[in-house]
Amino acid sequence: MHKNILEVQDLKKYFPLSGKQVKAVDGVSFSLEEGTTLGIVGESGSGKSTIARLILKLIEPTSGKVDFLGESLYDLPQKELRTLRSNMQMIFQNPYLSLFPHLSIGDNIEQPFIINRLGNDSVRREKVLELMDLVGVSKDYYHAFPHELSGGQQQRVGIARALALNPKLIICDEPVSSLDVSIQAQILNLLEKLQKDRNLSYIFIAHNLAVVEHISKKVAVMYLGKFVECADTAELYNNPLHPYTKALLEAVPSLEADGGKAFEAIYGEIPSPLNPPKGCRFCTRCKYAKPECLSVEPEYREVNPGHFVACHLV
Ligand code: ADP
Ligand code: MG
Repeated sequence: MHKNILEVQDLKKYFPLSGKQVKAVDGVSFSLEEGTTLGIVGESGSGKSTIARLILKLIEPTSGKVDFLGESLYDLPQKELRTLRSNMQMIFQNPYLSLFPHLSIGDNIEQPFIINRLGNDSVRREKVLELMDLVGVSKDYYHAFPHELSGGQQQRVGIARALALNPKLIICDEPVSSLDVSIQAQILNLLEKLQKDRNLSYIFIAHNLAVVEHISKKVAVMYLGKFVECADTAELYNNPLHPYTKALLEAVPSLEADGGKAFEAIYGEIPSPLNPPKGCRFCTRCKYAKPECLSVEPEYREVNPGHFVACHLV
């Protein structure tokens, strides 16, 4: 039996906005098996980054439960939280913005050691050089500044920094969305290799199903704050059940499709999470919607072993 490193139960985050509530994340549940990747895919605004920030406890949840390494994240005292937190790190969409522009590459990667008061100057320098080697950044860049590196190299630095404290979980929030296609594959390969070598667990967020297919063991499709479907990767891509997942798959023939093209096949815009549609949230854009879909919210249920979907038509 494989052990779950992360268990998320009915997680919600509502942001107050001019007297109303933005239901950014509205009851999401999933688990992540240690050493594997869960891909989370959805359009911009569907709540993916909010899930990331909730798991890292960068923001407080409205309700719900997150268990990480068997500990309840939201119930832990501050001190124990710090240890637990060093076991989870994040990689961001824009590597340049995630680095300190006025610090050298070496100093950027050294930051986690300094913040946690680990090692002395020479030990830290040795660790930084090891990390640079691990992620494929030449040590010649040790004294360079972030703007002197390409986007792909900057993201490698972001990955080195995320690995510094030997985390068990890395949340990758669209880590390749801003990179050229050829570079995307290199970064994905690097992440996969690191996962194998270090038994890392990933949550890999993307707005494109093609990006997460290879790296993910399970994939969840998110729409307006909820998971609409989640299954093992092969099952989801071969036997998609939700009309939204089907449309996403039709829209994305390859890794080359960019975010804009990916959603052309789905007519209309994603509704505002301030005013999600009644009934099924996807009903305003669903080709197959029937009256029930406009009034009754479908339950997210397990239709095949490990295959969850929220749709009245399934
Ligand atoms: P994604 O990462 O999928 O693009 P986000 O999680 O960033 O989506 O955002 C989900 C929704 O929550 C969006 O409608 C966004 O505008 C809203 N949102 C995110 N953060 C805040 C905030 N701090 N205050 C108000 N609304 C927010
Ligand atoms: Mg986001």
